[in-house]
Amino acid sequence: MSSLKKKALMCSAIFLCAGIIGLVAFYIPNRDIAFWLYCIALPLLFISLYLCFKYIRCPHCHSYLWRMHGSKCPHCGQNLYEDKPTDKE
Ligand SMILES: [Zn+2]
Repeated sequence: MSSLKKKALMCSAIFLCAGIIGLVAFYIPNRDIAFWLYCIALPLLFISLYLCFKYIRCPHCHSYLWRMHGSKCPHCGQNLYEDKPTDKE
């Protein structure tokens, strides 16, 4: 697995954890426990968004990747899943 896929997976996993904790906090009847769950979920949400903006970038031109369809960068057209730049230019 390429490092870009690992980073994207890590960001998604943290985002999913924040979502699940937030959902549990929303449905939990005890408001005190819900408050502390929100206190965990919100920072996790912001951390995952920060990591996405920081690491989900093209390894060649370093532009941010909003959507990843296919294996080519929409900005420079190089393969996203090769960590080293190709020689053919
Ligand atoms: Zn690129």
